[in-house]
Amino acid sequence: MNENTYKSYSNFGISDKVINFGNEILDTLKERFNNIDDIAEYNQLKVINAMQECKVSEACLLGTTGYGYNDFGRDTLESVYAKVFHTEDALVRPQITCGTHALALALLSNLRPGDELLSPAGKPYDTLEEVIGIRPSKGSLKEYGISYRQVDLLDDGGFDYDSIRNAVNEKTKLVTIQRSKGYQTRPTFSVDSIGELITFIKKIKPDVICMVDNCYGEFVEMIEPSDVGADMVVGSLIKNPGGGLAPIGGYIAGKKECVENAAYRLTSPGLGKEVGASLGVTASFYQGLFLAPTVTANALKGAIFAANIYEKLGFPVIPNATEERHDIIQAVTFGKPEGVIAFCKGIQAAASVDSHVSPEPWAMPGYDSQVIMAAGAFVSGSSIELSADGPIKPPYAVYFQGGLTWPHAKLGILKSLQSLIDCGFIKIW
Ligand SMILES: *Cc1c(COP(=O)(O)O)cnc(C)c1O
Repeated sequence: MNENTYKSYSNFGISDKVINFGNEILDTLKERFNNIDDIAEYNQLKVINAMQECKVSEACLLGTTGYGYNDFGRDTLESVYAKVFHTEDALVRPQITCGTHALALALLSNLRPGDELLSPAGKPYDTLEEVIGIRPSKGSLKEYGISYRQVDLLDDGGFDYDSIRNAVNEKTKLVTIQRSKGYQTRPTFSVDSIGELITFIKKIKPDVICMVDNCYGEFVEMIEPSDVGADMVVGSLIKNPGGGLAPIGGYIAGKKECVENAAYRLTSPGLGKEVGASLGVTASFYQGLFLAPTVTANALKGAIFAANIYEKLGFPVIPNATEERHDIIQAVTFGKPEGVIAFCKGIQAAASVDSHVSPEPWAMPGYDSQVIMAAGAFVSGSSIELSADGPIKPPYAVYFQGGLTWPHAKLGILKSLQSLIDCGFIKIW
């Protein structure tokens, strides 16, 4: 490492031992980083190709106001998303406020009273519990007479195919599969394994709609769930596909009918995709998507670096140091609240925005325990930017993700380790 860079890390309060430890770990990761770059290269070409085929022009980058009729840039962007995900259509809008909203929209618009929703891969993401009505909430699927069934994963993290076969019934209309682990310590599913699950379910009931919560998974592999049979893929633009530049938004890409249903629910019956001014965000949606493959690669490198650092120090990490990656999340289990809190404080201290504030656990809407979040982000709450969060409940695991650039991700992880050492949680040096 360059001497000046070394000194800069020291100026950030990182000890020689931590810097050297980080560099030793890094030396072992060259081949893996090369593989990540290969995937990013492929996905970069995929995005550029989609933009060229859709004839993205300078005029597309302008926004509309008011009703947003004939918003050429918005409509073209939706075609670009459909091309990237190899789907018939897509809805990509700033009016979709976040990932939960995108998922709720996809569910509430494609299910009708009397239908049943099936989750064949265990408990969905925390905020979806209220969308579904597992925890009571106003406007939940349950309030609309839509029932829910869940098949938990087997102990080894695999799909319980026998129970799934038994759970599919005449009411089953939509199947929701969450690609990323979310706030759980189960493995994230590969796109191939999601494909196997979808094939199995479609054999039992061909007309069932298979939706994948694609949050944090976009561009991690060369294929997406929509390449292996998913009827809808759904995600947030302040995660991977927004490339750090999208200031808001969500997407639903999929079968024409599914996307249309979602559009009519987002705006109004009769209006659908025709309205929804894009205001001034269109250019950032395009440029963010353009950057997304390499930004995702940077975040992945950070996740792998973190896994190798913390596994070496004896903490359980999911995925482990050598496993293949299917999303950008890295879970590290500390077993005690103090570890989660010190880790998050270290990440916050590495931020370029709000580095001087200290995150504290709080009762965040949609979650059933206190949550601590480190997010010194340019876009508030953006978790494609360097961030970490963890619910303050056993097993006291922290979920680390993001880093728009690899050097920033590296700084964050070194700061997290220094923070754990400084507060006495890690006592090796
Ligand atoms: C982040 C996330 C969501 C919810 O997205 P928000 O933008 O936080 O509402 C849903 N599912 C998964 C797997 C996620 O990671």
